[in-house]
Parts: sequence; structure tokens; C-alpha cells
Amino acid sequence: MSNIIRLLANTAALIIFLLIFYWVVLVKKKREFAKHQLVLICPKCGSIRLSPANIIGIFREEYKCDKCDYRSSFFPEIHISKIKEFREKLRKKPKSREQSKKSKNTE
Ligand SMILES: [Zn+2]
Repeated sequence: MSNIIRLLANTAALIIFLLIFYWVVLVKKKREFAKHQLVLICPKCGSIRLSPANIIGIFREEYKCDKCDYRSSFFPEIHISKIKEFREKLRKKPKSREQSKKSKNTE
């Protein structure tokens, strides 16, 4: 009897160990993936929900923002962790072109 209990305990321990190991590996992989993850972001509203605007797309890929309908063949690509920062900057950013140029020069 005690052998069976020991075997069961060992198996349970092994399963728990494997689960923890699996979880740790998964979390690590997820973090590494996030490290390298870049997303296209809408420069107008900061949304990352973009969809291809032209289906044919022979000459260039054009995207459309799902949120504000902004269309462009160029969307800034930023790191996924900088999305919040980008949106905060958008809120603070003055709308006139001259002022945005000045802020670009100071950066
Ligand atoms: Zn937008």
C-alpha cells in the first residue's frame, strides 16, 4: 500500500513540477515575444487596429485606421510597450504643423 501511495505522490509531484516548468517557459517566451513585438499605430488617434485599405495593393500597402478612418501608406511602427506613451504624446501634441516640427527638433 505504501508503495502505491509513494508512487502516486511521486507522479503528482512530477506533474506539478512539469506544470510549473511549462508555465515558466511559457511566460518567458511570452515576454521575449513582447520584447521584439512591433506594431503599426495610427498617428492620429493612437489606435493599433489597422486594416489594409486596398485589397489589390500592387504599388504599395495602404492601411486604414478602424477607429478614425485615417488612411496612409505609412504608419509609424512602435514597440508594443510604447503604445501608452505614444497615446499620451498624441494627447499633448499640438495640432499645428509648426509646433510639431519644433518638438521633433528638440527630441
Ligand atoms: Zn486612427
